Amino acid sequence: MGNVLAFCEFSDDGLRTSALANLTFARQAAQAHGGEVIALVMGGGVQGAAAAAAKYAPKVLVVDEPTLAHYLAETYAPIVARLAKEHGATVVCATATSVGKDLMPRVASLLDAGQASDISKLEGKDTFVRPILSGNANSTVQISTPIICVTPRQTEFEPAPELGAAGAVTAAPAGTIDALGATFDRLDAQKSDRPDLGDAKVVVSGGRGMKNGENFKVLEELADLLGAAMGASRAATDAGMVPADWQVGQTGKIVAPKLYFAVAISGAIQHLAGMKGSKTIVAINKNKDEPIFQVADYGIVADWEKAVPELIAEIKKLKASR
Ligand SMILES: Cc1cc2nc3c(=O)[nH]c(=O)nc-3n(C[C@H](O)[C@H](O)[C@H](O)COP(=O)(O)OP(=O)(O)OC[C@H]3O[C@@H](n4cnc5c(N)ncnc54)[C@H](O)[C@@H]3O)c2cc1C
Repeated sequence: MGNVLAFCEFSDDGLRTSALANLTFARQAAQAHGGEVIALVMGGGVQGAAAAAAKYAPKVLVVDEPTLAHYLAETYAPIVARLAKEHGATVVCATATSVGKDLMPRVASLLDAGQASDISKLEGKDTFVRPILSGNANSTVQISTPIICVTPRQTEFEPAPELGAAGAVTAAPAGTIDALGATFDRLDAQKSDRPDLGDAKVVVSGGRGMKNGENFKVLEELADLLGAAMGASRAATDAGMVPADWQVGQTGKIVAPKLYFAVAISGAIQHLAGMKGSKTIVAINKNKDEPIFQVADYGIVADWEKAVPELIAEIKKLKASR
């Protein structure tokens, strides 16, 4: 029997959708391990996030300390590892976001635990399925250490529904914080009113065929009409057309929105690995033979210069008629 310590990411609006996917995994793991879910909320000034977490977990541990206001794996990992031991966790999990992927290997190392990374399914107490080869095959991994660290993939676990009653919130001491010489310098975040790429219901992505960053403005207009997040292929981000954190794919973000637009993207296997789980895929490409059309539900063979403005005009007309 063992508990599941679920590291929860949050924003000013409460728990991130990615954290809710982690809590769904945590509930499944807790059932398999005969323990309970303990949500972990860490940072500086996090009482609001802790109250939000209490809607989803029977227990919430809160580490509220000003020096933890900015995430650093060096300062967070020892606290997560200590709390896992103190609270009888046999599973420690964080969603496979950039933070989760950064944090959890350090936690695993401190706990001498095996890690199951980027998993899509829990198959038993210690057995996990994880997609490999750009999602073209699944491997089954079994971890034999007493504590197991896991990063579940957000797109493979539905957001956890709220529990009927609020969980108990307990303050946990941060203890001695040693950043091992690392310091927080600054966060270069893109400020945007658009939804987070990982959480968005609609994503509009552009590729190398957009030719330059200026041309992405037409995609941004489409995205704003649809309340969508912006994404891009690696060719577009590597060329500096758009910010690197827009990259969708094997080495970028994995997304599974309700609607995904792939504009001037060829559909290389590494791009498909990040978006083929989308419910509906619309591809706009001038070359009908591109692989993107093999995964698209709707394909438009056209130059984006013509197709996207027409699409925008039609959406505006529809909106005006309502
Ligand atoms: C280890 C590794 C990891 C990788 N990880 C990623 C990843 O995470 N994400 C990712 O995206 N890629 C990744 N890649 C790169 C990937 O292999 C492709 O090179 C990349 O996805 C291509 O991007 P693209 O489709 O924008 O460009 P291209 O393949 O060059 O395609 C451009 C498309 O634009 C179309 N086009 C051109 N002009 C127009 C027009 N006027 N109107 C309409 N269509 C037009 C063309 O027909 C073409 O289909 C990775 C590669 C490796 C080796």
